[in-house]
Amino acid sequence: MKATIAVLAGDGVGKEIVPEAVKILEAVGERFHHHFEFVSGDVGGQAIDSVGEPLPRATLELAKRSDAVLLGAVGGPNWEGLEYRLRPERALLGLREQLGLFANLRPAKLYPMLADASTLKREVVEGIDLLVVRELTGGIYFGKPKGIEKIPGGERGINTEVYTTDEITRIAKVAFEAARKRRRRVTSVDKANVLESSELWRRVVIQVHKDYPDTELSHMYVDNCAMQLIRYPRQFDVLVTSNLFGDILSDEAAMLTGSIGMLPSASLGSHTGLYEPIHGSAPDIAGQSIANPIATIASAAMMLAYSFHLEKEAEAVEQAIVKSLEDGYRTKDISSPGTTLVGTKAMGDAILKNLLN
Ligand code: NAD
Repeated sequence: MKATIAVLAGDGVGKEIVPEAVKILEAVGERFHHHFEFVSGDVGGQAIDSVGEPLPRATLELAKRSDAVLLGAVGGPNWEGLEYRLRPERALLGLREQLGLFANLRPAKLYPMLADASTLKREVVEGIDLLVVRELTGGIYFGKPKGIEKIPGGERGINTEVYTTDEITRIAKVAFEAARKRRRRVTSVDKANVLESSELWRRVVIQVHKDYPDTELSHMYVDNCAMQLIRYPRQFDVLVTSNLFGDILSDEAAMLTGSIGMLPSASLGSHTGLYEPIHGSAPDIAGQSIANPIATIASAAMMLAYSFHLEKEAEAVEQAIVKSLEDGYRTKDISSPGTTLVGTKAMGDAILKNLLN
């Protein structure tokens, strides 16, 4: 197959980890005979410095005409004082909005050799392999009315949780499709005992499920889910939920596995998907070549599976990551006694070697 990939490295460690993921995608192209064309663009603080805005028109156009976007991270202390519309992070919102990225997928998988990096006990976290599918463009973050208004004796803050049948249908489909690539179990998380919007959510998810009889559907209230995630996380395969609940639960799920440098994400819409590590630009370690590139390389693996439907290739990248960890290679964030401490590039090289072997 042929595909154009927009490469937006961005700021801080983004510039160090993205080349490692590109290196891996190039090797996938060679090994499996695909032609990937990589086109770089400016984004975030680095784009503010070069052209005066965080999401230049040329970058947006590049993203729109590409088959997928690989993003590093944006932001850093240099741009913190800027007014809100000029902040590097605006680029992310702009890309989400302009690419119509309504689904955010965050897998949380525990690599057995890293179980001790989690703050939870080994017996609780061992075997975790779950995926949070969060609705990204609707719900209470966007619903109207919103705002703060004066009332006699004070003020009133208002936000509105609102979902339409179409919005719920499309995110539920993403979850069921993702479940088909996994263990075929979907847990829909809501608060249907209290919220009408959740009552509709549950009804629509049940309706969509009729088209996916090969998958199993269950429902869970969000408060119980928050508890179950730390009590018995192995029970979950795919979790699908609203923007607000997903925001909170996906961070909780991420922490189960211990290291932020390991966790990838995908944001999907109608055409171009965006793939990025869940962490930020890590200014505290930027420029030292010690950042962990695995989250970004695993994001590239998600790109192969979700945008290009190259499951075998995605699995090969995953296996190369596992093998490199089994070989004992560790970047500083995940290192422990008895392992081999390596920098960003050497970790990329180890994964590359295992991919090509
Ligand atoms: P961060 O995720 O950048 O860093 C948090 C901690 O995790 C730091 O100690 C950092 O060193 C460590 N870390 C992060 N990635 C790592 C990696 N690959 N390997 C090893 N260690 C890693 O979060 P922050 O410090 O709160 O934010 C820094 C900047 O990043 C801010 O400007 C913030 O707005 C921005 N940010 C951007 C994104 C994004 O681009 N999607 C997401 C979150 C934060």
